[in-house]
Amino acid sequence: MTDVDVAIAGAGPSGLALAILLAQRGVSVRVLEERAQPGTHSRAIGLHPPGLEVLDLAGVGAAAVEAGVRITSGVALHGPGPDGAVGSGTVRPGTVRPGTVRPGTVGPGVSAVASMDFGVLPGPHRYVLALPQTATQALLEERLALLDPGALRRGIRVEAFHPGPDGVCVRTSAGGAGPFREGGTPHGETPHGETPHGRPPVSPVLTAGSLTARFLVGADGVRSGTRDALGLPFRGVAHPDRYVMADYPDTTGFGPTAALFLHPEGIVESFPLPGGQRRWVARLPGGRATPPPPRNGTGDGSAPWEAAEGPAPDRLHEALAATIARRTGHSVEEAGAVPTVFGTARRRVPRMADGPVVLIGDAAHEVSPIGGQGMTLGLLDAAQLAGILCAALATTRGTGRGAGRGAVPDAAARAALERFSARRLRAARAAGRAAHLNMVLGRPLPGALLRGRDRAIGALVGRGAVHDAVARHFTMQG
Ligand SMILES: Cc1cc2nc3c(=O)[nH]c(=O)nc-3n(C[C@H](O)[C@H](O)[C@H](O)COP(=O)(O)OP(=O)(O)OC[C@H]3O[C@@H](n4cnc5c(N)ncnc54)[C@H](O)[C@@H]3O)c2cc1C
Repeated sequence: MTDVDVAIAGAGPSGLALAILLAQRGVSVRVLEERAQPGTHSRAIGLHPPGLEVLDLAGVGAAAVEAGVRITSGVALHGPGPDGAVGSGTVRPGTVRPGTVRPGTVGPGVSAVASMDFGVLPGPHRYVLALPQTATQALLEERLALLDPGALRRGIRVEAFHPGPDGVCVRTSAGGAGPFREGGTPHGETPHGETPHGRPPVSPVLTAGSLTARFLVGADGVRSGTRDALGLPFRGVAHPDRYVMADYPDTTGFGPTAALFLHPEGIVESFPLPGGQRRWVARLPGGRATPPPPRNGTGDGSAPWEAAEGPAPDRLHEALAATIARRTGHSVEEAGAVPTVFGTARRRVPRMADGPVVLIGDAAHEVSPIGGQGMTLGLLDAAQLAGILCAALATTRGTGRGAGRGAVPDAAARAALERFSARRLRAARAAGRAAHLNMVLGRPLPGALLRGRDRAIGALVGRGAVHDAVARHFTMQG
């Protein structure tokens, strides 16, 4: 008898989504999160349609759509400047699809290269949803608390684990101001209470420092300690591309359109956000290799500006604002924005499952944030793994086919986990390739070459079938 069916290390979007999808099906879960409080720094803002479908399954899709901004189209523009200037501030007929960008909004000296209309997408979500990751996680956390108020334990760090014949023993430490007292009963735990599913909790009292589970899922991010403990390599490449991003009040007039400014110095991207804000992302000049991911830690994958060559931290806004003005013709106001520098890398584990321990999300695969597919990849991992774990648990609990036989996971579950791993790593490879292409398109290029390349891309994307295929590919549906 174990304390819970599934223990999950990490309450990022991947871990929370998995916990909800399991709890909805009556599986007992504990999510152990080392941070005492949710993070306040927004990383991901883009949710692609397949990720939104997972949020629908988790019961928070409608709330997310309500809180976010639907990005219905995107436009690629040539920025102003001696080399980039090829237009006069108007949208030339034939370069963009009707309705995707309003003439007059592009800025002086800026011209449209191509546009993309997400209205052509299949399925219920014909847009990319812009919602800060903090908001997405808050919705998931609320939903999990409704299903099982005791499922998420903050301030608890997974330190080690030991797989055995019945599952895994997880060793934890009470790192922050979390719900556990060292050696005592967790704060807020009702020792003999009922779960929201109406059955007694699997373990009335969790001993601080240890927990047993049938399965352990490492959803502990790019610096995953679970991955390290399994001894799995995290192979790939660190890209030379570095970016700086910040959110500013939206004065562009672009509305729900995402704008990519292609400039000889490097790309600037601009996305709508809720609350009249806009996220700006600018490629930094130069091509420093990104450092390898730190081992365990509490950071968020973003490097501080001082790690890059460039302005000092107190001059970040000034430097970013000047870059945006030079490459796009738009101006931004500081208004409390906190610019952040981040590097890019593409890494994967060779397999995502090892006996009763499974990795999902960034712990298993890291893709460049340029292209914005990391969170959606993790949500899809969660959705697919939930079904496999439910089936495996039903078998060992005595309700499914082949009930009650063998260890966890049994041969059928192992085979299902192997297929899951192969499928999800293929998806991560494809997302990594797409993100790489996005980065290559945004690299610095002499003006004449940039114009020639972009005219060719514009002509290609202008064709209906190519446009629709690119739109599906860009939104993870191709
Ligand atoms: C600048 C930037 C912009 C991005 N933009 C996008 C975007 O627009 N769209 C998109 O899809 N993706 C984007 N991403 C990627 C996205 O943020 C990640 O893919 C996503 O956060 C991965 O979720 P996760 O749950 O797998 O891991 P994480 O979000 O990293 O969560 C892991 C959690 O595990 C916890 N943890 C770690 N170790 C332990 C331990 N030992 N014990 C307990 N808890 C532990 C951590 O505290 C953390 O809360 C971006 C990333 C960056 C850096």
